[in-house]
Amino acid sequence: MEIISYGGGVQSTAMIVLAAQGRIPATHAVFANTGDDSEHPATLEYVRNVAAPWAAEHGVEVVELHNTRFGQPETLWGRMMREGSKSVPLPFYQPETGAPVGRACTADFKVKVIGRWLKANGANKDTPATVNIGISLDEIHRLHNRKPEPYEQNEYPLIDLRLTRQDCANIIERAGLPVPPKSACFFCPFHRLQGWKEQRRDSPELFDKACQLESAVNERRAAAGNYPVYLSRTLRPLSEVTEAQQDLWSVMDDSCDSGYCMV
Ligand code: SF4
Repeated sequence: MEIISYGGGVQSTAMIVLAAQGRIPATHAVFANTGDDSEHPATLEYVRNVAAPWAAEHGVEVVELHNTRFGQPETLWGRMMREGSKSVPLPFYQPETGAPVGRACTADFKVKVIGRWLKANGANKDTPATVNIGISLDEIHRLHNRKPEPYEQNEYPLIDLRLTRQDCANIIERAGLPVPPKSACFFCPFHRLQGWKEQRRDSPELFDKACQLESAVNERRAAAGNYPVYLSRTLRPLSEVTEAQQDLWSVMDDSCDSGYCMV
């Protein structure tokens, strides 16, 4: 079995086009949806209404998967907002070190979900599935960030084909498709500061929800005697950062593209 690990962004959409052209021998593009209340709505719109129909017409099946808990669907937003939840699965920034506290979200809502599907479809350590991961040449530093599981063998076709992110966008456009927006949960702490600013301007309802999530997590943490954690790397509440620290955009807008979990 050979699949594309599909995140709904530029690189993995380019892999679908390459598969349709016979340049990647994958039959399925597997999209682990962290939740309709968690993925950016523009990504879901693109995956379902643009990429999936086009892929189907060109012999590639887009498979959408969801995480479950006790047999019921569980979204990332739902896990964090559940009453009494102690879970902090996002890579929130902690005040002491300024570093992210961890990143269970990628493992629980992406890697394990795809892994279960691969195993259900016959992948195992003796016959591992080939998983094509969309890391482009300009992101080569991310190449071995994740150790493969025993049931999978990772391939990096965009590196092999020497393709950059811009090349991927060109491939998508030449196929007659619109270039997708960056894919990530709308509340992902790996957003650039500029990304938060744009979200506040362009999608204020999503921005308000991200602020609401940060507040809810910190209210629970305060009640348990824990220090606050932040969605923004400036270590300030999201609502304050974007209003009070406009001057920081230019000096703190370093890249966090590698943080997007394009598995
Ligand atoms: S996009 Fe961000 S928040 Fe969503 S699963 Fe990936 S790392 Fe976690």
